[in-house]
Amino acid sequence: MRHVSGVMSFRRGKSNLKKIGNDKNHTFIRGRSMSNEVTLTIDGREVSVNSGVTLYWAAKKLGIEIPHLCYREDLPPMSSCRICVVEVEGMRNLAVSCSHPAADGMVVHTDTERVRRARRNNLELILSDHNVECITCEKSGDCALEQYAYEFGIKKPSFGGEKNEFPIRDDDPFIVRDYNKCILCQRCIYACGEIQYDSAINIANRGFNACISTPFDRGLQDTACVSCGRCISVCPVGALVEKSRIGKGREWELEKKNTICPYCGCGCTVELNIKDGMLIKVTAPGKNTVNNGNLCVKGKFGLHFINHSDRLTKPLIKRENSFVEVSWDEAVEYTADNLARIKKKHGPDAIGGLSSAKCTNEENYLFQKFIRACVGTNNIDHCARLCHSSTVAGLARAFGSGAMTNSITELRNAECILVTGSNTTEAHPIIALEIKAAVMKNGARLIVADPRRIDLVRFSDCWLRHKSGTDVALFNGMMHVIISEGLEDREFIDARTENYSQFYDTVMYYTPEKAAEITGVPADDIRAAARVYAGAGTASIVYSMGITQHTTGTDNVLSLANLAMLTGNIGKKSTGVNPLRGQNNVQGACDLGALPNVYPGYQRIDDYVIREKFEQEWGTPLSPDPGLTVVEMFHGIEKGKIRAMYIMGENPSLSDPNLNRVRENLDSLEFLVVQDIFLSETAEKADVVLPAASFAEKDGTFTNTERRVQLLQKILSPPGEARQDWDIICKVSSRLGYPMTYTNPAQIMDEMASIMPIYGGISHNRIRKYGIQWPCPDKSHGGTPFLHKGMFTRGKGLFSAVEYIPPAELPDDDYPYVLTTGRILYHFHTGTMSRRVDGLHEVRPDGFVEINPADARDLGIKEKDMAEISSRRGTVTARCVVTNRSRPGAVFMAFHFREAAANILTNDALDPVAKIPEFKVCAVRVKKA
Ligand code: SF4
Ligand code: SF4
Ligand code: SF4
Repeated sequence: MRHVSGVMSFRRGKSNLKKIGNDKNHTFIRGRSMSNEVTLTIDGREVSVNSGVTLYWAAKKLGIEIPHLCYREDLPPMSSCRICVVEVEGMRNLAVSCSHPAADGMVVHTDTERVRRARRNNLELILSDHNVECITCEKSGDCALEQYAYEFGIKKPSFGGEKNEFPIRDDDPFIVRDYNKCILCQRCIYACGEIQYDSAINIANRGFNACISTPFDRGLQDTACVSCGRCISVCPVGALVEKSRIGKGREWELEKKNTICPYCGCGCTVELNIKDGMLIKVTAPGKNTVNNGNLCVKGKFGLHFINHSDRLTKPLIKRENSFVEVSWDEAVEYTADNLARIKKKHGPDAIGGLSSAKCTNEENYLFQKFIRACVGTNNIDHCARLCHSSTVAGLARAFGSGAMTNSITELRNAECILVTGSNTTEAHPIIALEIKAAVMKNGARLIVADPRRIDLVRFSDCWLRHKSGTDVALFNGMMHVIISEGLEDREFIDARTENYSQFYDTVMYYTPEKAAEITGVPADDIRAAARVYAGAGTASIVYSMGITQHTTGTDNVLSLANLAMLTGNIGKKSTGVNPLRGQNNVQGACDLGALPNVYPGYQRIDDYVIREKFEQEWGTPLSPDPGLTVVEMFHGIEKGKIRAMYIMGENPSLSDPNLNRVRENLDSLEFLVVQDIFLSETAEKADVVLPAASFAEKDGTFTNTERRVQLLQKILSPPGEARQDWDIICKVSSRLGYPMTYTNPAQIMDEMASIMPIYGGISHNRIRKYGIQWPCPDKSHGGTPFLHKGMFTRGKGLFSAVEYIPPAELPDDDYPYVLTTGRILYHFHTGTMSRRVDGLHEVRPDGFVEINPADARDLGIKEKDMAEISSRRGTVTARCVVTNRSRPGAVFMAFHFREAAANILTNDALDPVAKIPEFKVCAVRVKKA
């Protein structure tokens, strides 16, 4: 365990597994030299490999596939099944090829009679203690043991004897464990420990009774298991299977098709296994994907909402306070007539549209085009306003482009990673795997700056536990140290940036002691973190909504941009400032202009030339006036400025701050149309509800957090009469007098590419295999893994002088605690999808408030007590979780739960630049309910 001076080290010890490494995909044993080549002969053919490469890989280089059961190419060798044995001339015993290193002059035979006999013998031994129930086994057809038994012609094992009888465990919400079929290959243990870094399982018992432990033995809430399902994906037999698939279909009956996960911004590829229109299970392809075969619990087990009986199947119109089903013609006519009526009476700016980070790029493009070209207003926004509008504003100002600067895979090779305001393992689990791999495999230094003790703290060298809302003071303090100790990158500053001196004057006021006074972080810890960050050859900043959701959100982002420029950690691989986007297509919704001040591709509406270009393309005059943002629209309802809203796939009745106010405002609209897949809390308030297709039922593209535009495909038909969102928009727009006659999303993408240079070279055909990262200006361009190489998008990087400003609402005698809100692993956003998945609901059924033990003691609160949490805006009741994760004086709530809606409490005070509300800090009172 390493220590940084003055900072406690939290990182747990590194894996002590017998270690392998990879050299151009050739596995070698650690400790052996990699530099010398060795030449050997395998099955009569010569092959040269690096010294230390195993015989398995040497054979593979020649195209010889050696059978194996316990070995997997992405895991260390266990050498337990001994199916992969080969004969080496001069060796008395057979060699286990998955772990035996190649040596110069070696002569190897992979398919002799002796080898075949040994393999068969070993297979029979394994089968003798295996519950051979292939007729009913869920894994049949995809079981390596069944396959090898068939290939070796083993009808019945010749060894008899006693067999284990383990009870079948189905108490896990997602996984059924039948250890009577387990061959003790330990792949699951290694996958959990070496890929997932959770080590939730191990070998239990000894000798004959040995089996794999069950992670849920300690209960759902206390297990280290994060339900990623990686253990299932590596299990070669039927010992671990998805609960959802039991009895639903044989392996060969499942139709498997790839698409993109609809939850977070990682953009994982999911393989849907379908039978008779029903999702049976989800698997993850390994090649050409962001996630390399990994998934988190939501992608692996959380997609069954698509078949939920609550899905909207018919258009609905509210009559006398209840919904009645109507035909599409009637619903479209009703919607268009009401929008036309309000536009005629109050003008186009009386209508507002919320687009959706869950819809495709093509749908976001059409929706903003509909609002701008058909309705005639720029009142178009979406949930990015609530999560990363300060990123867009801050990074655009500092660098000229408001997106993640680098790629997810580059994190693995960063020498230092600063994670701040991102609970990465819960909100972006696949990116967290890269961060953990950087630390555990490559020895990266990890700095976590977060008021909560998030899971990544256990991998960190330094944990800076600052008070919520003091980010600017913390980073200014670190930059003071960097400058004072001469650790800045002078060459980079001189050549590539401007406004340094103004920035310098501000930062030099924030001595570590001053920063410590504001943040609560000891000055020496600030010094130590600054030295670690500035001392690394490549340092990468990863942040999320803990940084952006403040009245100083833009300042926080500018501060991080300053830090990266000060040390030259931008414009090259494994560095950068990397905002992790919350929803699967929030990056795309921004790119496609679902924002009130820019057209698609961040082209400004107040630029006359740009506006003229869009007017020509769309064949209609466009409004030059910037529109209202999300929160401004809701406040505009109170002032009579907004009379009607069209909300596509968003749920502001639960996601927006100060919910009582939002709900009252929605109720007072003259007309509300909601287009969604479920009757959300917002849809319940609508005058008309238009049923939409889910991600699995549509074609189009999503853009993930690293700017990668990826193709999804229609795998299922939408239920009932639900339609794809782009199709609905076309119908409403045409009925309103602005015809849209697209026949498919590929056609819409071609139009998008023709008018937005950053997507200029992207087409559906080009990204069929793997996505492309924008900017991609033309068809010959391969995309851009990292931005600002050689020159910033705006020319020179702009340093900003950023002063610390306290949050809008701080604790006082009436409301003595700070409330901060966020996400948890098992649910997503307002829970419309994840709360309709049985397993996710079973693990996390209700809302809760996290409270520090010292505060709980003061308040007479115990674990599981119900507490009443009040702010100046309302009161909610939630179950208490007493934990050190929250700092003393601070409480935390997740915002997914309608019955304990954290956003009833949150403050709708706005960042003056980005207009993002301050979700992350407000003052509350807590008492036992
Ligand atoms: S589901 Fe994931 S975390 Fe849980 S035991 Fe399996 S690999 Fe480990
Ligand atoms: S449960 Fe599966 S992966 Fe784990 S040891 Fe048994 S057979 Fe191997
Ligand atoms: S990490 Fe995000 S994109 Fe990947 S499976 Fe989980 S929720 Fe889906």
